[in-house]
Amino acid sequence: MAAEAKDKTKDTAKQDSFLARRQLYEEMGSLLHIPWYRLAAVDQYERTLTPNSKEAKSENRLTRISFLPPVWSGWVNPQPEDTNPLSIALFGGMGKDADGDGIADPKNDRDALFTMGRYINSFGYAEDDFRIALWKYYQNDRAVQRISQFARIYKAFDRLDLFENAFPLPISSMYSYNDTWGNSRHWGGFRIHEGNDLFAPYGVPVRSVCYGIVEIKGWNPFGGWRIGIRDLNNRYHYYAHLSGYAKNINVGDMMTPGQVVGWVGSSGYGPPGTQGKFPPHLHFGIYRDNGRSEWAFDPYPLLKKWEYAERARLRKK
Ligand SMILES: [Zn+2]
Repeated sequence: MAAEAKDKTKDTAKQDSFLARRQLYEEMGSLLHIPWYRLAAVDQYERTLTPNSKEAKSENRLTRISFLPPVWSGWVNPQPEDTNPLSIALFGGMGKDADGDGIADPKNDRDALFTMGRYINSFGYAEDDFRIALWKYYQNDRAVQRISQFARIYKAFDRLDLFENAFPLPISSMYSYNDTWGNSRHWGGFRIHEGNDLFAPYGVPVRSVCYGIVEIKGWNPFGGWRIGIRDLNNRYHYYAHLSGYAKNINVGDMMTPGQVVGWVGSSGYGPPGTQGKFPPHLHFGIYRDNGRSEWAFDPYPLLKKWEYAERARLRKK
């Protein structure tokens, strides 16, 4: 098969799986009176914990919510792998049988989603109830924040297919960058250089690279005027040293790939308003969160990929 045809098949398969997932969230949501985007958010959060899980792929599942065996079957259940809904209920396990086959199977999409949904709506239907349910389940503030953000993203865009990317600068503008990951000599006062410096003149637009939600905006002594945007892969995109922000962008706002967030500048390395201590550039960093810890990774390969993809799209037009 030619590369293009292969890509098309892959795209179609992806769209089909988004569609099937949406249907499942809607179906379980209406059964449980939970908005589909809350179930989608929990599922997506668990997907980001183990993005390359071979087990999940081999099981051919649509959803990725997974339960510890004793959480599913009950802590005092002598059979941790119990799938009998009656004995599970007897031992206080969470596991439910949603599709009525008499088996409560944690690896069955319907059973798993229904079980999670029942747990969530046992706390109530308001947004605060949702957050309390998440906190009780994950015992982790970060998980609560992520899932709430994901739910807001899904609700705002009303779809699951939100993984397009754009290059952070207009590719027709003047800019240059190298792989400077971990370089100790750099601009802007980051002790270990967690990111990439894209050099460009003052005033070049800085754009969101993804669909996502604004998590942080404002002054930082090192980063100057900076903004942080979280996407559904649980990646936090950090843009620093801006000369200013685009109008009407606030924490909690939704961003789309290519949307202008501000302009290249040289702010930072001092009290609010400091600028000109180094040449104008965009400091761009990406951080990953797996629920337990957050770490930076080298954005250079992704920058190259996005740049290449945009050039290819422009050529096609
Ligand atoms: Zn930098």
